Amino acid sequence: MIELSFHGATGTVTGSKYLLRVNEHKVLVDCGMFQGPKQLRVLNWQPLPFDPKEIDAVVVTHAHIDHIGYLPRLVAKGFNGPVWATEPTVDVAGILLKDAAHIQEEDADYRNRKGLTSHEKALPLFTTEDAKAAKKLFKPAYFREWNEAAPGIRFKYHRAGHIIGAAFVEFELDDGNKRRTVVFSGDLGRYGSPIIPDPVKPPRPDALIMESTYGGRMHPPQDPLYMLQTVIKDIIERKSVLLIPAFAVGRTQQVIYMISELIEHDRIPPIEINIDSPMAVRATDIYVRHRSYHRIEVQRLGGKKCVLNGDLVKLHRKRKSSKMLNKLTGPAVIISASGMMSGGRILHHLINRLPDPNMTLMTVGYAAEGTLGRRLIDGDKLVYIHKQPIEVKARIINVQGLSAHADYHEILHWLEPMKPQPEQVFITHGEPSQSKALAEHLKTEYGWESVLPEMDQTVRL
Ligand SMILES: [Zn+2]
Repeated sequence: MIELSFHGATGTVTGSKYLLRVNEHKVLVDCGMFQGPKQLRVLNWQPLPFDPKEIDAVVVTHAHIDHIGYLPRLVAKGFNGPVWATEPTVDVAGILLKDAAHIQEEDADYRNRKGLTSHEKALPLFTTEDAKAAKKLFKPAYFREWNEAAPGIRFKYHRAGHIIGAAFVEFELDDGNKRRTVVFSGDLGRYGSPIIPDPVKPPRPDALIMESTYGGRMHPPQDPLYMLQTVIKDIIERKSVLLIPAFAVGRTQQVIYMISELIEHDRIPPIEINIDSPMAVRATDIYVRHRSYHRIEVQRLGGKKCVLNGDLVKLHRKRKSSKMLNKLTGPAVIISASGMMSGGRILHHLINRLPDPNMTLMTVGYAAEGTLGRRLIDGDKLVYIHKQPIEVKARIINVQGLSAHADYHEILHWLEPMKPQPEQVFITHGEPSQSKALAEHLKTEYGWESVLPEMDQTVRL
């Protein structure tokens, strides 16, 4: 018996959790947290439809929280098997899970202190201890090598682009009677990205689980480097501050890299870049340690010349130092986590700076529906942060070309070697309109039939 159940990333981009079952063995592919609006976040608190103790192993595609963020909770609920991941993913996950636990704890603490809970005491979804326990279970795997996750469940990682260490996974499942091959796309990256190499050609599987974050969208042909140049020139002229919310690992390095490219080629004068994240130093170390997983030249990764950590980059590790940035006048850039503005230090910057008409907020990543990030991009003039009304007078600029996600054109290009259509095609990891749009594109352009699974649906493979 070979089965697959969808326990997240159905009708949403978050909470990726796919349960593969071969006879009595169970392997979870990704173990993500639900993020965004409350109706999604509450799903993190619901009991799982399976027993974590019965899972043989977890195979993660990459280190984003919507793919790994539920691991500490899974461990707290009894999971004790290996968590397979590529080497950079192991390192990034170590940093991000600890940070996620910290955010959970701080947020619960804040709510309790301010009396923001409507009933009982606010609790963190998981603690720093849970995150540490999860970190110990990680087991590194390498691109293009077979591993056995459980009897009858073999897998191989392939480069997916997207972020450092990100993989798509090829499974070979064998229940004694039949064999099935399955490909999970994970999050598919873009072609020609400046830092992360392109996704590799996939094999042709029997079943495909395809993400659809940008299933109906095309990235605009705008040049993000040019946009960044224009915005920075403008803030230098106005002596103001450019605030960039970005994930601490990945997007932050990409933005620093781009600014340093602009400075290096005299397209902008040198400008102070403040990294408001305790994780930035360790994140840079990951790029130095795993040189074959990105495109930044080795000689630009050391000492004062280091593009990610050089003279102009000021790191703010401590919370006190982060608060001091509230007094900073420009021209300067502040990069602060998190990307969708759903938590973390970025919130106090927003409370402080959104009412300032001289300030520029530049969003550089994907912001899911219902998140503060999305509301700001959509032009809301009044937002609530920690239930506090905040007037938005700052200039909001949305740079889209920096997305780490393939658009539908790139998805179709990547899928080309799978023609003619795999027997079963499941579209997940997208807002409903995007998943439907990808299904349409696959139908009209490739003649493929696909299924949009529902939450907790189980299918035979
Ligand atoms: Zn991702």
